[in-house]
Amino acid sequence: MSSLNAPVTELKGVGEALAIKLERLGIAQISDLLFHLPLRYQDRTRITPIASLRSGDEAVVEGKIAAAEVVQGRRRSLLIRLSDTSSVISLRFFYFSPAQQQQFQPGTQVRAFGEARAGATGLEIYHPEYRLISDSTLPVEDHLTPIYPTTAGLHQSRLRALIDQAFERLDANPEALPEWLPERLRQRFALPELHGCLRALHYPPPETDPEHLAAGQHPATRRLALEELLAHQLSLREVRLRIQQDGAPALPDGRNLQARFLTQLPFSLTGAQRRVLDELRLDLATAYPMLRLVQGDVGSGKTVVAAMAALSAIAGDCQAAIMAPTEILAEQHYRSFRAWFEPLGIDVAWLSGKLKGKQRLDTKAAIQDGRARMVVGTHALFQSDVHFQRLGLAIIDEQHRFGVHQRLALREKGEAGGLTPHQLVMTATPIPRTLAMSAYADLDVSVIDELPPGRTPVKTVAMPDERRPEITERIRSACADGRQAYWVCTLIEESEALQCQAAEATRDELADALPELNIGLVHGRMKPAEKADVMGAFKEGELDLLVATTVIEVGVDVPNASLMIIENPERLGLSQLHQLRGRVGRGSIASFCVLLYHPPLSQHAKRRLSVMRETNDGFRIAEEDLAIRGPGEVLGTRQTGLAHMKIADLERDADLLSRVTPLADALLAQHPQASQPLIRRWLGKEASRYGQV
Ligand code: ADP
Ligand code: MG
Repeated sequence: MSSLNAPVTELKGVGEALAIKLERLGIAQISDLLFHLPLRYQDRTRITPIASLRSGDEAVVEGKIAAAEVVQGRRRSLLIRLSDTSSVISLRFFYFSPAQQQQFQPGTQVRAFGEARAGATGLEIYHPEYRLISDSTLPVEDHLTPIYPTTAGLHQSRLRALIDQAFERLDANPEALPEWLPERLRQRFALPELHGCLRALHYPPPETDPEHLAAGQHPATRRLALEELLAHQLSLREVRLRIQQDGAPALPDGRNLQARFLTQLPFSLTGAQRRVLDELRLDLATAYPMLRLVQGDVGSGKTVVAAMAALSAIAGDCQAAIMAPTEILAEQHYRSFRAWFEPLGIDVAWLSGKLKGKQRLDTKAAIQDGRARMVVGTHALFQSDVHFQRLGLAIIDEQHRFGVHQRLALREKGEAGGLTPHQLVMTATPIPRTLAMSAYADLDVSVIDELPPGRTPVKTVAMPDERRPEITERIRSACADGRQAYWVCTLIEESEALQCQAAEATRDELADALPELNIGLVHGRMKPAEKADVMGAFKEGELDLLVATTVIEVGVDVPNASLMIIENPERLGLSQLHQLRGRVGRGSIASFCVLLYHPPLSQHAKRRLSVMRETNDGFRIAEEDLAIRGPGEVLGTRQTGLAHMKIADLERDADLLSRVTPLADALLAQHPQASQPLIRRWLGKEASRYGQV
């Protein structure tokens, strides 16, 4: 073990209690101290003339005590008047000991540090750090003073002393913290050397601008942030390599089966769908697992693409499975796949967590003995008691709800056949390319960038909820014309029960107002079979109006629905609104989305609603979403480690993202041996968690 990998308890004066506090800061071994960067800095490298101080300045002042007295203001305090050759300032102590009081004799020389503020006697410093000095040639600090993120009961001075100790060890043994980025790469990417960066950030020379440092703009911070982003990318690529070391079934293109499937469809594929299918075919034909993300806006027709890929697997004598994030969506896929595949003689099975008893046993048996060629379900599909006979392709729909871990867990599903399934991940959340390359470095990306023809863009309006009666009339006339409508109730409380009650009340009100309509209700507390019945009835046109909670968010497809009312849209994020709105505008009829908001709106809410009115473009909306909520939120913390970085900040360092992939490429080509240690340095325990799946 190198001296820096040792636990902090090896440092002088670090016992159990202190180690526990350090652990809270993510500091376990000595090297962690080196990467525990300051939040901000103080400048104690010079003595500031009192006359040049402004309120709010943090500074060192030095002068002679002109007077010291205990004063009775609103609170009793010890007031010291300190003067230098330029002016006078007060030091004020609300807590003081008699000994302290004794120290402050007029004429004594004092050096003090603190924040000057306007007080009762002019500029004052409350509770400054100070020392009495006999000799004013006493040196000042020779570097900016770091202020570290800390935790209760751990003082800055203590933390600084520990970091000093860590640097002593580093000086004694510089190889203990290797520079993994070779000189040539550092030159090419203009990156300063590691030890110098750490030193520059913990002990910045006096001429460094503290604001610039704290804003993360210093080249040293940027180098460390880039190294961290690089480590994340390397770890995702590692995941990819691990998966791809396994064999996968090389699948034929299944053209016969696919041709029969296509002739059944009432439409032909778009150019974008065909292009993405070609990309998938190439992947599927190889004998190692495909890892591909297909991005496509809501309604771009991802399901058909998934079905085509599934047919390749089935033609290759394998099974295919599609996993959806919600019961409703899984049920809908089940219905689509059955309608498409049963005429081709392919058995489709359905498995969800709610399937119980004998039905569950039967379904599992059909999956295990291979009778079920196509399996549709929720995440229940990938639980450990589900065994496939020979899973060739796993499709994960609406990926933003799943994570790297689930993707890795899929490897196990191949065990029985000795082969790992190909993986196709589909998402309607388009994210900008550079971010995608960092967040999904383990996946290849294809984009369906075209909507099927004949769609008229949804027209979106925002209205205050006092215009509800008008909306009711609008529903009446749309339904009289044979159209269908959604009424979406958004979450009021973080309680599903209350949300469902609210939806029930809305259904009742609408039923009173629109007695001639058939109105259905779906919410999260209904049994899957009940939900499926209602959705089925809506899809068949037996219901005119569907009142729903946000459970219909993803994927539900009813082309005849041309009107959607979203109640209290201000409660939802942009992506969610876009997903919801994507339920309409699926046919050729002009569709409308009414955002029925409750005034007054916050600034953010106003901006979100106006983005929704202005555009139907999922990529544009995703970019706005990114700007409003930030990448951590948009990507979700579950699926990416990017949200928990030590130094890098996706927002602040967005411009670094484009350099990560070329840097990773160059490093892997020239110095592949640096990859593992970099991953260990930045991801530590997490890295081994990914690695061992
Ligand atoms: P999403 O990409 O949001 O999952 P779906 O796969 O649910 O979209 O497709 C939306 C609708 O578009 C479905 O009704 C589907 O049958 C239809 N569709 C898919 N591809 C085409 C196409 N090439 N031409 C016309 N309609 C299509
Ligand atoms: Mg879909």
